[in-house]
Amino acid sequence: MKIAIFGAGVAGLSAAIELVERGHSVEIYEKRKVLGGKVSVWKDSEGDSIESGLHIVFGGYSQLQEYLKRVGAEDNYLWKEHSLIYAEPDGAQSFFRKANLPSPWAEVVGGMQADFLTMWDKISLIKGLWPALAGNEEYFRSQDHMTYSEWHRLHGASEHSLQKLWRAIALAMNFIEPNVISARPMITIFKYFGTDYAATKFGFFRKNPGESMIEPMRQYIQSRGGRIFVDARLSRFELEGDETIKSAVLRDGHTIEADAYISALPVHNLKKVLPDEWLRHDYFRNLHQFTGSPVINCQLWFDRKITDTDNLMFSEGTIFATFADVSLTCPDDFQAGMGTANGGSVMSLVLAPAHQLMDMPNHVITDMVMKDIHNRFPKSRDAKLLKSTIVKIPQSVYKAVPDVDRYRPDQLGPVRNLFLAGDYTDQHYLASMEGAALSGRQAAEKLMAKFGG
Ligand SMILES: Cc1cc2nc3c(=O)[nH]c(=O)nc-3n(C[C@H](O)[C@H](O)[C@H](O)COP(=O)(O)OP(=O)(O)OC[C@H]3O[C@@H](n4cnc5c(N)ncnc54)[C@H](O)[C@@H]3O)c2cc1C
Repeated sequence: MKIAIFGAGVAGLSAAIELVERGHSVEIYEKRKVLGGKVSVWKDSEGDSIESGLHIVFGGYSQLQEYLKRVGAEDNYLWKEHSLIYAEPDGAQSFFRKANLPSPWAEVVGGMQADFLTMWDKISLIKGLWPALAGNEEYFRSQDHMTYSEWHRLHGASEHSLQKLWRAIALAMNFIEPNVISARPMITIFKYFGTDYAATKFGFFRKNPGESMIEPMRQYIQSRGGRIFVDARLSRFELEGDETIKSAVLRDGHTIEADAYISALPVHNLKKVLPDEWLRHDYFRNLHQFTGSPVINCQLWFDRKITDTDNLMFSEGTIFATFADVSLTCPDDFQAGMGTANGGSVMSLVLAPAHQLMDMPNHVITDMVMKDIHNRFPKSRDAKLLKSTIVKIPQSVYKAVPDVDRYRPDQLGPVRNLFLAGDYTDQHYLASMEGAALSGRQAAEKLMAKFGG
């Protein structure tokens, strides 16, 4: 069977892995010159790796880790110490370290020792968040109508823990504030955090997500006969009747005919290529419920180390939400002699919420970042900034606001030979690399179940 996949992010590549393994003829069409979508990394003219965004593999990402194993990349990421680290003003740090005990004792003991939470925070958290810890999927679903802030206050958990702990988690997960994000993903994470010791540990790619994950996926797909075309933007579908695709047409006019088609486009791009006829289906109309979170990734190259923390960091009250010194976390990239790096820190910082920053000039954003860097990393005050880059993504992952989750489409829709993959489609993870990998697998499985093979 010939299958055309549009979009070479984690979702499209995961679907392709499944399909080439079953001997199908797979063609992937990607609009950009680089593969990976939101995980893409490219080299600039100075040989530096520029990331679309700092990416972390979580211990609970079993599907993604399985793909990494299948493509021979299981050694391409490294687990870090199991803790949440907050960068505080003037170089101080505070920690939530999981105790070396089975869950939930690892979290209870770790939480009681967390120095950035007051005793009242701890008591109110254990008492207030108990329904999340004890809850199941049905309960989480039932809480999707309210924001996390509303849920947190309703359950009597402290205001300080909301600002200090949960705001950082909301910004890291979905790049939006706790008073915007739905309660559902947050309490789901709380359950994971509180009951599964391994699920929340952080892994970093040895080099970067492009070279350590996307490139091995590409090689694996091509070694099994899959063909990948870049600079190949899908512009529309030609129909045969209303509910069957006859062909797909690229922007350059090239026509592709296949037995089945998988859209692994982000939802905002998919909306642009849908035939008007399909909007009579709720399935496609509901895609208009989704809007993307704006986010910015900033990278800074310094002439010396400004931190020795080899892990993900969070902070409160800064323009950046999550960040890492990738010269430490990613030992096979960002090292002395590679591009601009000279042995100093290379900070990769996710700026969120970013809606107010999107139209600002890059140098203004960099100045704001540097002000906060000086505040959190005193060694940076004497350091020289060698280079900075800014990557703006106006519509990244979909905003997980209340009452949107139920509109996530199944991978199998009303069009006979079209399947949807992508982190926004229905699978049990929020938009993430794991969600994208699961969606790709589900799209491929549903396609094969329908057409055989
Ligand atoms: C700054 C940032 C940090 C993140 N950090 C993490 C993290 O730490 N951990 C984590 O798990 N997740 C993280 N994520 C989320 C994660 O990157 C995404 O959820 C995931 O990569 C989405 O994969 P996808 O394949 O569904 O979509 P995408 O990656 O968006 O891939 C879609 C592809 O379709 C292509 N395309 C679009 N239109 C067309 C067209 N018309 N024709 C052909 N191709 C087209 C795009 O160019 C793209 O390559 C982060 C995201 C960002 C932005």
